[in-house]
Amino acid sequence: MSKQRVLSGIQPTGRLHLGNLIGAVENWVELQQSHDCYFFIADYHALTTSYADTKNLADDIRQAAIDLLSAGVAPEKAVLFRQSDVPEHAELHLLLSMLTPLAWLERVPTYKSKIEELKERDLGTYGFLGYPVLQAADILIYKASRVPVGEDQLPHLELTREIARRFNYLYKEIFPEPQAALTRFPALPGTDGRKMSKSYRNTIAISDTPDAIRKKVGIMVTDPERIKREDIGHPDVCPVYQYYKIFARDRREKAAKECREASRGCVDCKKELAQVLIEYLAPIHAAGRELEQEPKLLDNILKNGAERARAVASATLTQAKKAIGLA
Ligand code: SF4
Repeated sequence: MSKQRVLSGIQPTGRLHLGNLIGAVENWVELQQSHDCYFFIADYHALTTSYADTKNLADDIRQAAIDLLSAGVAPEKAVLFRQSDVPEHAELHLLLSMLTPLAWLERVPTYKSKIEELKERDLGTYGFLGYPVLQAADILIYKASRVPVGEDQLPHLELTREIARRFNYLYKEIFPEPQAALTRFPALPGTDGRKMSKSYRNTIAISDTPDAIRKKVGIMVTDPERIKREDIGHPDVCPVYQYYKIFARDRREKAAKECREASRGCVDCKKELAQVLIEYLAPIHAAGRELEQEPKLLDNILKNGAERARAVASATLTQAKKAIGLA
């Protein structure tokens, strides 16, 4: 039986952080063992919000590739490529944009919330409104059957399914409707307790040095009701404890018990967590250092990935154009 095809991408907007690692990349590493995986660095998507400042884009793309590979994405198991190296994504996006009603895009819940979140940028653009159509093209061009997503991205996937249905109805049954593969972990809190996100500047990057990790964990918010060392704590509302549940499962019961009895202080609790994270990330750092010294290897991996991706993408695009009457 042929393997199910999986498609997923990540935007190159600075170094990957622990939220990306837990919410997406570790899932990719697992999926590549059993599925036909296409993973991409979504550089066109980065332009939808960062079009006005692209001076770091080339570097960010490179760093994203290094972070993904050092976190375990394996080019012999999955196709890893840069989105703009496969221009078929852009052409299918154009074709799909012709049949996507504006109202479908305006009702996507993240459209307004993201504009609010990034209000210092002008996101009243055609590209930003249309980015879910680009996402649909990313998925449909590979006829992916599964897409790893968090709960908050389910409306986007539903839109992709609607666009596929509309295309199939108007022209020809070409696109399968992709299913969600929900990620196991809920969003990881950042150092300020909100969802970890580069736009909130509350991230711990997977490439952060041990010192930077100690500093960032040291300023993390904790149980707001625990003011003094003698106060009993409530680990379930503490962001630091959320990390114990993910990164230090063998220590979490002890940490929770001692927190509730006030026999553990927050400073020590954070020091222990910082050490756990430093050890967790050590193999990723070592792999990253090796890749930094092999720029040609990195170029070749992305080039080979793009060639493999284009072979599939161009066949789908030809089918789609024929169905429309363009070929
Ligand atoms: S002891 Fe640990 S789990 Fe408890 S409130 Fe402090 S940081 Fe959070």
